[in-house]
Amino acid sequence: MQEMILCKLGEVVLKGLNRHSFEMKLMSNIRRRTQKFGKFKIYSRQSTIYVEPVGECDLDGAFAACKQVFGIIAVTRAVPCEKTKEAILETAKTYLGDVLRSTRSFKVESKRSDKTFPLGSIQLSQWVGGYLHEAFPHLQVDVHNPEFTVYLEVREDAAYVHAPAEPAAGGLPLGMGGSAVSLLSGGIDSPVASYMMAKRGVVLEMLHFASPPYTSQAAREKVLQLARELTPWCGRLTVHIVPFTEIQEEIRRCCPEDHFTLIMRRFMMRLADRMAKEFGCHALVTGECLGQVASQTMQALAVSQDVTDLPVLRPLIGMDKEEIVRIARHIGTFDTSILPYEDCCTVFTPRHPKTKPHVEDVREMEQALDVEGLVEKAWAAREAVKVRY
Ligand code: ATP
Ligand code: MG
Repeated sequence: MQEMILCKLGEVVLKGLNRHSFEMKLMSNIRRRTQKFGKFKIYSRQSTIYVEPVGECDLDGAFAACKQVFGIIAVTRAVPCEKTKEAILETAKTYLGDVLRSTRSFKVESKRSDKTFPLGSIQLSQWVGGYLHEAFPHLQVDVHNPEFTVYLEVREDAAYVHAPAEPAAGGLPLGMGGSAVSLLSGGIDSPVASYMMAKRGVVLEMLHFASPPYTSQAAREKVLQLARELTPWCGRLTVHIVPFTEIQEEIRRCCPEDHFTLIMRRFMMRLADRMAKEFGCHALVTGECLGQVASQTMQALAVSQDVTDLPVLRPLIGMDKEEIVRIARHIGTFDTSILPYEDCCTVFTPRHPKTKPHVEDVREMEQALDVEGLVEKAWAAREAVKVRY
């Protein structure tokens, strides 16, 4: 009995003419994510991608990995068998025997995409259900609220027997949504924002600003750890670390204190824009959320995005902190995010930050700075660190 994994396609099935390229991308993403668990034959038929072990494999590992691949809405392990009702029954008995013995009530649900199969799906469910009941007489049949459901699928190439499918990552295959620069701090929000854009198929280049000696080596490690924790979702990542100390010191020296954070954020955006152009990315991603802090009012957001012509994607813009925290826990970044290390935004914070700034005023204040020189110098001193899971 050769167990395999069936991955059910999510929104990919809506994609009409693009569908083929979506499926190809998804299969190559699955191949990349499962390769360390053994050799698999991966192919697609009827809105399902089959992941079939070839020889010795760690199927548990591959199954867990498939659950984190965007574009897949549900996954299940299944055993294929010959397309006869007897073979299907025997497979259900042996493959699902252990669960059926420890369950009180059950039902059988069948799907028949091969219309040449002699029984209709209801007939097949009744026939297999009847014999399973005979083989496991303690079981109650309960079609409305069963403790366990046996699934039978009669497809073109074979019949498949499986337990209920488990929910998977959803979204669109990584690589189908273009690429973007994601601004990653050490906080709770930006890893969640990165995850959410990756879920829409966006490949990310990570950008982090560090301000040594105000920010420590531990703070830097924390950010790299967050990036590492994102890789099961986002794929391998490169974190570009840009030194930000000089820019911050210059702003402090030359600009009014109440505009400090805003001007600093404009430098972040300029550097992100610089990086996007160099890497061929088409958008910037931040963890900003309306009203969360002084630099996240509408006026402040307008002022900070004034320096870039790229779309600034802010997937958390309308979310409450609780919802963001829930996602952070789900994706596995929360515990790292709450480690108490300083971020460059937390050094030199103004006592009374401007919440309704005017872009003309800010441009005027920046006249005191060598904006281009500072940007070029910081960009030239960047460092790229690759992370993988
Ligand atoms: P987070 O929890 O993601 O740190 P936050 O609520 O603390 O967000 P801010 O510190 O104002 O908000 O930062 C807003 C966004 O700016 C962050 O979500 C992130 O995208 C970006 N950002 C902030 N600090 C940095 C940094 N040091 N390096 C890169 N991006 C940063
Ligand atoms: Mg922050």
